[in-house]
Amino acid sequence: MLNVSHVTKKYGKTLACRDVSFHLDPGSVTVLLGPNGAGKSTIMKSIIGFLRYEGEILVAGLPNKSVEARRILGFVPEIPALYPNLTVYEHMEFLARAYKLKDYKDRLHELLTRFELEDKNKKFGDELSKGMQQKLNLCLGLLPEPEMLMMDEPMIGLDPHAIKELKKLIEEMRSKRRTMLISTHIIDSVDMLWDRALIMQEGEIRANVSRDELAASGKSLEELFFEVTENLTAEDMTHSGENEA
Ligand code: ADP
Repeated sequence: MLNVSHVTKKYGKTLACRDVSFHLDPGSVTVLLGPNGAGKSTIMKSIIGFLRYEGEILVAGLPNKSVEARRILGFVPEIPALYPNLTVYEHMEFLARAYKLKDYKDRLHELLTRFELEDKNKKFGDELSKGMQQKLNLCLGLLPEPEMLMMDEPMIGLDPHAIKELKKLIEEMRSKRRTMLISTHIIDSVDMLWDRALIMQEGEIRANVSRDELAASGKSLEELFFEVTENLTAEDMTHSGENEA
């Protein structure tokens, strides 16, 4: 569904992604883990076509910046880009028209209800709290039901109800065979959701494992994460826990 080959991105002298390659199977959920500054947002922005980079990115075999690929790809950015003078409802309508969606009204109201925004649908973008902005940001990404959806740190700023709804929506989209790439630096927030995990650090992919491969190794995702990013073994982690106690 997605093929990322040898992608390198520099911002001036900062090497944000170095020779990044991976692919996503259709209908799979992949989590992209890594500490702050690992390059997760940069690779996602490269895939969606916001940045220039070296290397090749294909979406269903199509160049990612082509019109056809853009129809397949959806993106929920980490920082919501809302219009101060459009209401919640108008944001959703605006997006539906931009994507030329048909028969979207039921889904529009369902999403606003599930994220507890329906009774706030007349509020303007600049009247929303940070959490409400984040929820509207998610509703906008989810409304078109793209074949492939990328979400950059989607759990940040959400209340427990919204996190529960988002996890349910991810499961629902998985059952409809949508492909998803979800970045996070909080490992606990994505447990249960993933088929494949990528761990990035300093602009490189340091681990790429399926759920079955990880289970066969006997490690938890957290253990693998610290082994890869801090050279810690499971034993080190147990001992550090003992020292803290
Ligand atoms: P992550 O999403 O994993 O936190 P980013 O992709 O945002 O990481 O950042 C990767 C690296 O690129 C960091 O060193 C960051 O400081 C740098 N970076 C990100 N965006 C820019 C930018 N617009 N200009 C310069 N450097 C940037």
